[in-house]
Amino acid sequence: MSETSPKLRAELDGIPTYKPGKPAATGGPVAYKLSSNENPYPPLPGVMESVIAGAHAFNRYPDMACTGLMAELADRFGVPLTHLSTGTGSVGVAQSLLQATSGPGDEVIYAWRSFEAYPIITQISGATSVQVPLTAGDVHDLDAMAEAITDRTRLIFVCNPNNPTGTAVRRAELERFLGRVPADVLVVLDEAYREFVRDADVPDGIEIYRDRPNVCVLRTFSKAYGLAGLRVGFAIAHEPVAAALRKTALPFGVSQLAQDAAVASLRAEDALLGRVGALVAERGRVCDSLRKQGWTVPDTQANFVWLRLGERTLEFAAVCEAAGVVVRPFPGEGARVTIGECEANDLFVHTAGTFRKDL
Ligand code: PMP
Repeated sequence: MSETSPKLRAELDGIPTYKPGKPAATGGPVAYKLSSNENPYPPLPGVMESVIAGAHAFNRYPDMACTGLMAELADRFGVPLTHLSTGTGSVGVAQSLLQATSGPGDEVIYAWRSFEAYPIITQISGATSVQVPLTAGDVHDLDAMAEAITDRTRLIFVCNPNNPTGTAVRRAELERFLGRVPADVLVVLDEAYREFVRDADVPDGIEIYRDRPNVCVLRTFSKAYGLAGLRVGFAIAHEPVAAALRKTALPFGVSQLAQDAAVASLRAEDALLGRVGALVAERGRVCDSLRKQGWTVPDTQANFVWLRLGERTLEFAAVCEAAGVVVRPFPGEGARVTIGECEANDLFVHTAGTFRKDL
């Protein structure tokens, strides 16, 4: 066999690999997965019925234009159909956004630490990542991000609330920041966790986007709606951004199963609100308990909490795993822990309390 391999793009060298949250162990007495910000609830009412009803047509391609889902989204969010684009999870839409805006020589700005897909998809696009450290309080440093803009900047991610810290930027600071961003730079408000926000000063990106042609909002059905396994997300953006997104989207990237489940989920709003409310209440309970134990927990507006453990992060993750809860460690920095079912949260709080006593 020849030693020569097909030529691959140099940009792929050194790309960090996406680390999915570790699955819960099997075989032990208890095992809870709190490592991927998933929703602990089963699909919303009506979802199973809808996907089962569509199962007879798996020999067919899905509706490529996602007509039914797009109509439902346009109605729900009060946006024109032409401002919508769907994709294979919101990470799929984010990748399409990069494809539509950025390439070699261009710069993409985002806070760090933030969603781990940003460096990966930016590097794949050939553009250069410009990572702006979070403030000491683990919040986006929007002034520093504005100062990092150059004439090469094409796209800026603002992850609100931020994964993995849960912290959110507020209306006044975001508006001030947007006022400093040139009109030809796209700002992507990644609102994967929007439904969990309770701070009234944290703006709804859809209100922010309305009169700003360079703002795009990303949302997903993976978190609050509990459809992570079906891979469906969407963007709301003005033209020509939304039109460009529809061009760069992977053809047939959203299965019919996912489209039908998303529509059924949107129609189950009461149940959705109930579940999100319960998770938000659990979040409050977990944060209060951790703070009483002496932990510093940044104010989280998402379905997870962040513990800055520094060098003890991996040790903490191992202790949690041994106790039956799998968390998401970022070695040397901290651990992100999803709010799950009550028993899982109890077990996590108990384990964190024991660990704390040994610190
Ligand atoms: N954005 C953020 C901030 C996330 O945390 C995630 C999921 N971890 C996503 C986007 C992607 O979600 P999905 O592709 O499942 O829609």
